[in-house]
Amino acid sequence: MIYYGKQEINKEDIDSVVEVLKSDFLTQGPVVPRFESAVALYCDTKHAVAVNSATSALHISLLALNVGPGDYVWTSPNTFVATANAVQYCGANVDFVDINLDTYNICVNALELKLAQASLLGKLPKVVIPVHFSGQSCDMRQIHRLSKKYGFYVIEDASHAIGGRYLDQVVGSCKYSDITVFSFHPVKIITTAEGGMALTNSNKLAKRMELFRSHGVTREFTLSSDITHDPWYYQQTELGYNYRMTELQAALGISQLSKIDEFIKRRHLLADIYNRELKFLPLKLPYQTSSVYSTYHLYVICMQANSPISKIDLYQNLKDNDIITNVHYIPVHTQPYYQNLGFFSGQFPHSEKYYQDALSLPMYPSLSKRDQLKVIATIKSTLK
Ligand SMILES: *Cc1c(COP(=O)(O)O)cnc(C)c1O
Repeated sequence: MIYYGKQEINKEDIDSVVEVLKSDFLTQGPVVPRFESAVALYCDTKHAVAVNSATSALHISLLALNVGPGDYVWTSPNTFVATANAVQYCGANVDFVDINLDTYNICVNALELKLAQASLLGKLPKVVIPVHFSGQSCDMRQIHRLSKKYGFYVIEDASHAIGGRYLDQVVGSCKYSDITVFSFHPVKIITTAEGGMALTNSNKLAKRMELFRSHGVTREFTLSSDITHDPWYYQQTELGYNYRMTELQAALGISQLSKIDEFIKRRHLLADIYNRELKFLPLKLPYQTSSVYSTYHLYVICMQANSPISKIDLYQNLKDNDIITNVHYIPVHTQPYYQNLGFFSGQFPHSEKYYQDALSLPMYPSLSKRDQLKVIATIKSTLK
């Protein structure tokens, strides 16, 4: 079977996890802070807070920014449901901004229009979460400009984009945002099995995210002179969660991070081969913005009006040949849960049109040349 995405684990990865298993700490030891420092250094960011998933990272990011009932948070409909769900966890109201049909990222023009309208209604968002779809950064300079004009925070959902670049910045630098979130799920760029991280340059936000990661409990509090605390005392100041990453996951993360540039280079090689081999077929291939270095987390093709067959036929034909493709994403607002909140089909037409046409081809560093050629040959023969 050839899947659309897959982790790459070598002996070093395994050895580093086994080493932790033999050590004193399986959780809350020295390895998680080491992984955090390594990612912060790689991304040129001050703080990194490791958690058990990107979903948790999104949740504590929103909590750190005091998002709660009555607040609005906007994101792209072309994302995994987790991005919107994290807003719901906070009791806030999620809303969406349609995508650009070149990049499949949030459309900055649509965002600007919606902000102007929301401003008149007094319903501006507290936070906007751009999603760097497929590993290609959103137009962060423009989004940053709008955040200053309209006064909202920015959380980058960079679940696809660790190791990517935007202008002269590494994604995660938070130059144009308050917080950036990564995912380390096995299909993502590097993995810790489950895992995520939230990066920020703000001392205050980092402290708050650390608090929400672990029950809202801290041992660092202002000792007032007239109270002496017992040495075992700890203090709960917020309602936090248990979102901690384990030492085993962090060890795997450190080992994986050492290979990240190699992984992404390999993804680019695979993308180049797809680009070359598929370009004369009636398919729309991924568009690349010149100011962006994508991670190619996904390689998405779109069916064209002149395609001789439908997407489902192509999907099925690939599946009959043991090639399992996937679709990213079913627009979040069309999910029954979100329809029950009042969203409706037709509301964000670009994301819906894109969803009709899109198919994610196998793309992962260990995809062999032979397997990729099989994918290409099957697509060619199906579209003939
Ligand atoms: C994978 C993903 C998430 C959720 O990541 P987890 O680590 O599985 O919680 C959120 N947003 C996007 C865009 C993703 O691709």
